[in-house]
Amino acid sequence: MSITVPCPNCAAPVEWSEHSPWRPFCSERCRLIDLGEWFNENHRISEPTDPGIPPQQTPPEH
Ligand SMILES: [Zn+2]
Repeated sequence: MSITVPCPNCAAPVEWSEHSPWRPFCSERCRLIDLGEWFNENHRISEPTDPGIPPQQTPPEH
């Protein structure tokens, strides 16, 4: 059984399974971008990749 969902950030198909740890996002990058929009909305269009967010410092949500 394979279910795919569109990434909320880039609309790429994301497999809804344990193989997609960043679901519903396609990648950690898209997840960070989405989470960062609330404080970085001025940059989200011109700079889709934010160098100010270290990839390993995302606190767990749960
Ligand atoms: Zn994406």
